[in-house]
Amino acid sequence: MRKIALHWQILLGMVAGVVFALILTNFSWGPEFVSDWIKPFGNIFINALKLIAVPLILASLIKGISDLKDISKLSKMGIRTIATYIITTVIAVSIGLVLVNVIGPGRTISEDTRSDLIASYEGDASVRISDAEKQKDAGPLQALEDIVPSNIFGAASDNGNMLQVIFFAIFFGIGLILIPEQTAKPVKDFFDGFNEVILKLIDLIMLAAPFGVFALLAALVVESPSTDLFAALALYAMTVLIGLALMIGVYILLVWIFTGNKPSFFINGIAPAQLLAFSTSSSAATLPVTMERVEEHMGVHKEVTSFVLPIGATINMDGTSLYQAVAAVFIAQAFGMDLSLGTQMGIIATATLASIGSAAVPGAGMVMLVIVLAQAGIPEAGLALIFAIDRPLDMCRTTVNVTGDAAVALMVAKSVDMMGPPNVKEWDEEYHPD
Ligand code: ASP
Repeated sequence: MRKIALHWQILLGMVAGVVFALILTNFSWGPEFVSDWIKPFGNIFINALKLIAVPLILASLIKGISDLKDISKLSKMGIRTIATYIITTVIAVSIGLVLVNVIGPGRTISEDTRSDLIASYEGDASVRISDAEKQKDAGPLQALEDIVPSNIFGAASDNGNMLQVIFFAIFFGIGLILIPEQTAKPVKDFFDGFNEVILKLIDLIMLAAPFGVFALLAALVVESPSTDLFAALALYAMTVLIGLALMIGVYILLVWIFTGNKPSFFINGIAPAQLLAFSTSSSAATLPVTMERVEEHMGVHKEVTSFVLPIGATINMDGTSLYQAVAAVFIAQAFGMDLSLGTQMGIIATATLASIGSAAVPGAGMVMLVIVLAQAGIPEAGLALIFAIDRPLDMCRTTVNVTGDAAVALMVAKSVDMMGPPNVKEWDEEYHPD
């Protein structure tokens, strides 16, 4: 029997979950059966995803920062690359925030559904809402003060603070760069291996995804049979998709302005990588094709692609950051929370950091969304709400992630004069005359 691709399995799980629950709602014992015997598996799945978040940040960020050592060698290109990556990410988050505030997908939920929703998360939401109220009374520098943990285990604990974990990881990574290479090597090797183990664990957890979404969707259907929740979810998905489409437009424009290349050149060049990103939901898996396209079909020199694109695949995830901003605000809206302007500004920072920390594998962006939620005081249980439709959105945001990496590679190449006619081999001698 041929193996069905994971995204089809997940779609199947979603549909089966809805159908199963719709059938069971016809029986008086149905809803209770789903709550007692099906929903826990959905919760286990979400818990497993959350479990992996802290080790994932530690491993991938420490590895990412310590790899940056090469930047000193390639400082001009390095600084431009990182700066452009951060700027495009901030643009993406801002687009997401504006859209979700204007469209307000979570505001369409009726009061009844909302109270059901809050009740179904057993007080978690109300606890978080009161946490958020507390945050409003804090002093202006409280956020800054909160970034530095006094105890790393406290920061990594269940009620911990993800930003503190990120701070520790960056701090540790910097330390690793500063000690002698010989001493640093075993530590780096350890984190390399650790990172791979974590990525493998995500793979394993994702194997259970079809069952996880089955359970989550079934629970969603029996617990809130109201159609307005589904309508809200559809509107949420549309908000993300509109934002992603706008982002593609931004890249086309940036490439046009900064490199003088027409939209058709860029789109034709990157399309195969986009398709692969869409079907694998992984920037890392797409990387070889992205490199080949940018190098061979868009004429960017190897020295640029081999530096800019792998870093981009790891830290530049504009689609992911846009999605995280929309998802966070949507969940807050669904729970009836009012987010202050300050909190939304905070989301720009945390979504940027969270997307940098997201691994380039399927589903990673949703795991890191926990950070954005925790930081803004939005109930993490809201993940269950959006999980059901995460995979199709993951496919689309990964497409944007990959497109963004390619666009930045083109712009950086142009700025350091390492862009030529599409076939690099022909003009290689210019830079490497033997
Ligand atoms: N799947 C995305 C990527 O590989 C990350 C995410 O989950 O947003 O780029």
